[in-house]
Amino acid sequence: MFDFDKTFDVIVIGGGHAGCEAALISAKRGAKTLLITQSLDTVAQMSCNPSIGGIAKGQIVREIDALGGAMGKITDIAAVHYHMLNTGKGEAVWSPRVQCDKKIYQFAYKHFLEKQENLHILQDEATQILTKNGAVDAVVTLRQTKYKTKAVVLCSGTFLKGTIHVGKLMLGGGRYNDNAANFLSASLKDLGLKIGRLKTGTPMRINGQTVDFTKFTPQPSDNPYTPMSVFNRPIKKDFLQCYIGRTTDKTAEVLAEHAKEKTTVNKTAAFR
Ligand SMILES: Cc1cc2nc3c(=O)[nH]c(=O)nc-3n(C[C@H](O)[C@H](O)[C@H](O)COP(=O)(O)OP(=O)(O)OC[C@H]3O[C@@H](n4cnc5c(N)ncnc54)[C@H](O)[C@@H]3O)c2cc1C
Repeated sequence: MFDFDKTFDVIVIGGGHAGCEAALISAKRGAKTLLITQSLDTVAQMSCNPSIGGIAKGQIVREIDALGGAMGKITDIAAVHYHMLNTGKGEAVWSPRVQCDKKIYQFAYKHFLEKQENLHILQDEATQILTKNGAVDAVVTLRQTKYKTKAVVLCSGTFLKGTIHVGKLMLGGGRYNDNAANFLSASLKDLGLKIGRLKTGTPMRINGQTVDFTKFTPQPSDNPYTPMSVFNRPIKKDFLQCYIGRTTDKTAEVLAEHAKEKTTVNKTAAFR
């Protein structure tokens, strides 16, 4: 085991949306911060669809923005389509939703982090949290290094012992094509924390060139639009068009037919 010779004020584990915001604000407030994340190439990656915001989530992004976060500003950099949801109801429940270019979002965010003083970003996996006298003392990584710290912020998203179901197949992974973080849960359990499992779902991705868009309802970007960040003003930009599709009775039939099917575990892929 290698002991890193500096002590951090804060270590943030995980460089997804939550970890990026936590690391950024911690460093901005003057705390010497280390962000440990499994891959530098997936920092701020959107796990699912390319939208930021939506009902309830739009309000959270706005709150983060008001508190000095970066998500809203970066959304405006990467935006390809703006739509305010719920405008049929009172203004208190209007919800901004912005479709983004996923890669621009990710790289713009990484650039924000790299420019931030007091912030160091490390590609590694946190495997253990060590405590001393009932307080956090250090984080140990897969590459067998111990980083001393006064506080840990855990933002591991869907990665702790993550499993993925694709049709009937079960694979290990934090997200499709990304390894799960398989060791940290045991350490959390040893610290007396309760471990549970949550589930999320996502639709299949399809090739746009195979879709007949004339069968869908077009949804142009709002004009004028409201930027996601309250610190930005609308700018002249070419936006993309979204399309609204609906499922049919046939879709419900297919789901009902397959709902009881059992999963097959691919052991090689599940424990890589
Ligand atoms: C298939 C799928 C579909 C989803 N669909 C939606 C959706 O439609 N809407 C929605 O709001 N949410 C959706 N989610 C949930 C999505 O994960 C969250 O909205 C969002 O990504 C959470 O951000 P996060 O920062 O908490 O975690 P994540 O984005 O999951 O990021 C976690 C990060 O932590 C890193 N990490 C984890 N453990 C460690 C460790 N021990 N050491 C170092 N690094 C570590 C990972 O590599 C990753 O970079 C979906 C998730 C998946 C997988």
